[in-house]
Amino acid sequence: MNLKDTAKEKIRLLKKNNTYIQCVSIQSPIGAKIKIDGKYYLNFCSNNYLGLANHPLVKKASIDAISKFGIGPAAVRTISGTTLLHIKLEKDIAKFKRTQDAVTFQSGYVANLATIPAVVGENDLIFSDELNHASIIDGCRLSRANVIRYSHANTKDLDRKLNKYKSSKVKKLIVTDGVFSMDGDIAPLPDIVTKAKKYNAITMVDDAHGEGVLGKNGRGIVDHFNLHGKVDIEVGTMSKAFGVVGGYVAADKAVIEMLRQSARPFLFSSAMTIPDVAACIKAVEILSRSDILVKVLWKNTKYFKERIKSFGFDIGNSATPIVPIMLKDETLTKQFSRLLYENGVFAKAITYPTVAKGRARIRIMISASQQKNDLDNALETIRKVGNILKVL
Ligand SMILES: *Cc1c(COP(=O)(O)O)cnc(C)c1O
Repeated sequence: MNLKDTAKEKIRLLKKNNTYIQCVSIQSPIGAKIKIDGKYYLNFCSNNYLGLANHPLVKKASIDAISKFGIGPAAVRTISGTTLLHIKLEKDIAKFKRTQDAVTFQSGYVANLATIPAVVGENDLIFSDELNHASIIDGCRLSRANVIRYSHANTKDLDRKLNKYKSSKVKKLIVTDGVFSMDGDIAPLPDIVTKAKKYNAITMVDDAHGEGVLGKNGRGIVDHFNLHGKVDIEVGTMSKAFGVVGGYVAADKAVIEMLRQSARPFLFSSAMTIPDVAACIKAVEILSRSDILVKVLWKNTKYFKERIKSFGFDIGNSATPIVPIMLKDETLTKQFSRLLYENGVFAKAITYPTVAKGRARIRIMISASQQKNDLDNALETIRKVGNILKVL
């Protein structure tokens, strides 16, 4: 088959299996409400936890930086792509995360692809939570190390698997999401750190959904568990709570220096743009100065979860502002999402293959940008749809 026919056949199969993806076109800034097809919807889909994606100070920082420095650095970091803004952002992130140093990448996805192959290689061992994010899985593959998956958040299983290789002299890396993006549960990091010590393994946590959410001023999962200095590598993203784009790694000086010397996206892919870096600096500054947005996020989360549970919905093991409404059936979940949309609430159905078959859900993302009446309107609509579809 030629390429065109192969492509057409792939698309046909996706459509037949109901796994074909459609992107909606958003006609407004990302906020509590977003405009689609000329109409405003309550937005419960974005990772804009703190409302920074359209924050006036963040926007102004970007615009001011463009006036001063232009847009693109037009080079990789190691040639002429390191501006004083890039250096400031890395310093500020390290301070915020309370680590010795930090390095930025073009995205959180890239940060994982950059870091894992720089830390472990062929014949080494990676112990990876079975529900880890795709970017961790891809980073593991790129490293060519042997990947051993352990049961989700199950440190007994992790111990069993580490124990099996305890006499092996190769490098061992334990890698986990901090907050799991589909269920909103938190990794058992203190236990993972204990196992790592016991078996002399390196620890790495991807804090994409913990940033701006967990810990003091949203410093993330390490701060949440008070494990400063005990986790070797913290990966993060600027694209969720920080509302911009970009990724980073925070760690000891020597580790960051190694990444600056050997991480391939640092060496071979151009640096983050000026407006993005300036926006990130402002977002980190806003969080460092005040925890008010984090407090509002948790107040909204607590209120929403109490109400949704009182209606009789199952929200699984969520311990964060990620609220999965577990409906399990794929068709029902898609219908549910469509009816929510027709009633002015944008909350996407998450189905196979993003989650396992029979684990379909509506994933609600809470944000500090939502007002109480936004939450109340959404809750009423969810209850109404639940009644129509006889879920309640
Ligand atoms: C979203 C996410 C990423 C990707 O971050 P980007 O900055 O959007 O590339 C990486 N890891 C985890 C756990 C995520 O949830």
